[in-house]
Amino acid sequence: MRILLMGPPGAGKGTQAEQLTEILNIPHISTGDMFRKAIKEQTELGKKAKAYMDKGELVPDEVTVGIVEDRIKEDDCADGFLLDGFPRTVNQADALGKMLGNLGIKLDSVINVEVPFEELIGRLAGRRICKSCGATYHMIFNPPEVEGVCDKCGGELYQRDDDTEETAKNRLEVYEKQTAPLLEYYENTGLLVSVNGNQSMEQVLKDILKVLGK
Ligand SMILES: [Zn+2]
Repeated sequence: MRILLMGPPGAGKGTQAEQLTEILNIPHISTGDMFRKAIKEQTELGKKAKAYMDKGELVPDEVTVGIVEDRIKEDDCADGFLLDGFPRTVNQADALGKMLGNLGIKLDSVINVEVPFEELIGRLAGRRICKSCGATYHMIFNPPEVEGVCDKCGGELYQRDDDTEETAKNRLEVYEKQTAPLLEYYENTGLLVSVNGNQSMEQVLKDILKVLGK
């Protein structure tokens, strides 16, 4: 099963991805992780990507797609994968489709977790992150056992500048603007399925699994 998971910041995509990959027994491929790995292991493309990043330039699509391709060719992806954070543009989606086609595979489903704007702002503004290990919490939905302290490592929790109401609004507007064409693209290819993300995490997960026929 080859899945692309999409959703605005605050939609709980990370949690869903974690659960889905465990249940479906497929790897979670997030672009951020992939980039870090490629750069750390100094792969050909990793070196190229780093050169652009060091110059403060955007990494060109062909390099990014190449890094995704390298990852997808690894053994653990033989039975599928869950893509997260890529593609971000229609051009990238096109390039991804071609690359998968060359490998003789295709995406089975593009899942979009939908949550109303107002709800997302509330969610984002309640987010807290561990300074030490990066674990995320939410004041309402997923509070730590002790206020301000990470359950996992005891680190200090803080609110990212990104997560204030004002910046949350901005982020969501940018996301919407960037993603609308991509959603339309996948709508046109018949792959897009929207899931109501304004429910409990368990219910969202159930709905996604249902869509996937699991
Ligand atoms: Zn921690």
